[in-house]
Amino acid sequence: MSLLRWRGAAGALGADGTAEQGSVGRAGPGATALTWPDAEAEAGAGRLDASLWKAVPPSERRDSPFSSAAKSGLLRTCSNPHCASGWLHLLRSRQTPVFEGGWCCSVACTRARVEAAVRREMEARGQTRDSHRHRVPLGLAMLEQGWITQQDLRAALQAQRAAGGRLGDWLVRQKSASEEQVTRALGLQWSCPVLSLDFHNPEDLAVLLPRLFLDAFGALPLRVAAGRILYLGFEDRIDPALALAAERMTGLRVEAGVVQSSLFRAAHTHALQTHFPPAELIEAANEQAMAAALARAIEAARPVAAHLVRVHECLWLRLWLRPQTGPLPDPGSIRDLIASTATH
Ligand SMILES: [Zn+2]
Repeated sequence: MSLLRWRGAAGALGADGTAEQGSVGRAGPGATALTWPDAEAEAGAGRLDASLWKAVPPSERRDSPFSSAAKSGLLRTCSNPHCASGWLHLLRSRQTPVFEGGWCCSVACTRARVEAAVRREMEARGQTRDSHRHRVPLGLAMLEQGWITQQDLRAALQAQRAAGGRLGDWLVRQKSASEEQVTRALGLQWSCPVLSLDFHNPEDLAVLLPRLFLDAFGALPLRVAAGRILYLGFEDRIDPALALAAERMTGLRVEAGVVQSSLFRAAHTHALQTHFPPAELIEAANEQAMAAALARAIEAARPVAAHLVRVHECLWLRLWLRPQTGPLPDPGSIRDLIASTATH
């Protein structure tokens, strides 16, 4: 069983089948180029780029959504730093609603905290937008490995120019390379591991990301290892922004990687047909209206936990109606809201 392959060398696996840190993707004997730590430093894919995390304020970095367990409700004070009336709302529950680890004493305070969170997420957008880095073209990576010849590459490029499509698909169609080689080359290009579908159970993992994100960004949660690592698969390009959002929201460490195309497509189609927790889409005229709608949803649901993260141009609010007791939330206990503004 090989969960991870990297330059064709199987990463060392722990007894429980989880990849051990430091051994993941270690290059095999004779491999000369990127080893995993280098790849990590360079890539912004696979293991998350540290620069992406810089955009996340320390207050929002946490181990998991269920580690910030509710404090005793008796002496709980309002988490809105500008609250002027924390002790006046005597009839309001002091257990809920909780947003980003803090109880809110009133509708106004919930709204103030959500507005601040929306601002925080939107301001961080500019810091990560241009985090694209130069990547070796797929054809060159394959040429370098000796997997294709100049003539193979030229023929595939010609076919691509004439008919469109992806270079890797043309190389396979023209029998210049195997699909597996193309996948390995994508792993080199994105400095990420090639992930397998071993142990993939889409029904269990449907609680991790809203269906919309799987569909729109071509992502596929593959499995959770040792209760703390989420393997997130992509077909031909890693989406670091989605991987970061998943990491922030789930509290799991995300390892993103590529999955062989034909396997990915079948599993992705299957995953999209499974049952997902309810998700509501909100399109708001502006950020204030968006914050107001999200705050209303929090006030209506009175969650025991709620977190807000940005995924590209959307904000994703997840509400936990009951405390989460394991690495995955209970499907019936969460609600997702995905909000965007009409200007985007
Ligand atoms: Zn308050």
